[in-house]
Parts: sequence; C-alpha cells; structure tokens
Amino acid sequence: MKKIIIAIDGPAASGKSTTAKALAKRLNYTYIDTGAMYRAITLKLLRENAYDTAFTDEAMLKALLDATDIHLEHGAVFLDGEDVSDKIRTHDISSKVSKVSSLKLVREKLTECQKKFGNEKGIVMDGRDIGTVIFPDADLKVFMTASARERAKRRLEELQLKGETALTLDDLEQDILRRDKEDSERALAPLRKAADAIELDTSALSIDEQVEFIYRRAAILIGN
Ligand code: C5P
Repeated sequence: MKKIIIAIDGPAASGKSTTAKALAKRLNYTYIDTGAMYRAITLKLLRENAYDTAFTDEAMLKALLDATDIHLEHGAVFLDGEDVSDKIRTHDISSKVSKVSSLKLVREKLTECQKKFGNEKGIVMDGRDIGTVIFPDADLKVFMTASARERAKRRLEELQLKGETALTLDDLEQDILRRDKEDSERALAPLRKAADAIELDTSALSIDEQVEFIYRRAAILIGN
C-alpha cells in the first residue's frame, strides 16, 4: 500500500495532536509532534537560565542549541536523553514557547530535523508550518480550527483532569488568543493555512469525527 505524508496545522488547542495521534495509530503511521520539540527547547532555556539572553545573545544561543539534543521516540520527547514529555506541558512553558519559536536559530535547528522525517513516508506531523514550510509537497494537508472559547474549554477540561484548577476559562482564552497572535504574526514560518490545505472546523466535532474525516481522505490517496 502507498505510504503518504499527512501535514496537520492549526492554532493552539485546536485538537491537532489528539487527532493526529489517533490517525497515525489507525494508519499504522509514525506521529510527530513538532510543538513538543519547541516546548523542549523552551524547557532547556529555562533550565539553563538562558530564556532572556536567548533574545539578545545569538552566540550564546547557538552554542546552547549546538549542545542540545532533541529527539522523539514512541510518542515521547527526549531532551538530552531525558524523557520530558510531561515537563513540557506546564502553563509556564505554554506561555513562553511562542516567543522561543520565533527565534531564527531555533527554527533552523528544528526545521532541519523535522524535514529528515520526510525521508520515510508514512507519517502524520502536526504543528504550525508543516504544510507551508516543512512539507510544502505533503500528500494531504489539513488546517484545523475551532473558536477560541471552545479551545479554552477543552484546555480547561484537560487541566481539571490533571487536578490543576488555578486557571479560569477567561485566563485560558486570553492565553490562547495571545499565542494565536504571536504565532500568526511572527516573521518566520508564521501560522497560516496552506493554499491547498483542507480546513476542518472542529468546534462541533468529536475526536472520532475529526479522525474519521481525515482518515477517509487519506484512504482515498493510499488506495485503501
Ligand atoms: O502545538 P503546541 O501548542 O504544543 O505548540 C507549542 C508552540 O510551538 C506553538 O504555540 C508555536 O509557537 C510553536 N510551534 C511552531 N511551529 C510548529 C509547532 C509549534 O512555531 N511547527
């Protein structure tokens, strides 16, 4: 059966990663979460007390990035050999990652690494610039959206499940709107829908419906 590259982009908390993960499982494909890679670099900068200097000292940032290993394995993200999959999901990282991902050196490092995944087909990759920059020739591109309120509601439910109750729906909606703005207004690889991407508004859809929608289109291309 033909193997393809599926690119899923969209704003924060639009359901990309849950959908992409389930889709990859159903197709027996590899799932690649590029947001996790930007989050891991943010964690590294915070740990090294280099978050502020990263924006002013390019030589320092370059040396730090050269000495940083980020890789994905079985759905987990590793920072210098340590599984940091849970540690990158904090509110602090979420509030700082957009700024970090606007840095040219950071994007160059991760872009190069993400493009290499294309050597092997049979992947589902999610992020902000997958259909526009990483794989402009991807076989199937989906741009997922949902209203900011709906996305904030989903985030709130996720946090409540984890026992984190300090943030209100309004706080989360503000965070999401700020991140959307930073991601779509940055100069390098901004968040935007590729001209040939299919738009999928998930506001009123369940995860199963989202997966089914993309699966059906993938199945046609694969010849299933
Ligand atoms: O998808 P997630 O919310 O984990 O992504 C975290 C952040 O990483 C995004 O808000 C964005 O700033 C950045 N990102 C990016 N390009 C990607 C994936 C994520 O700039 N391909």
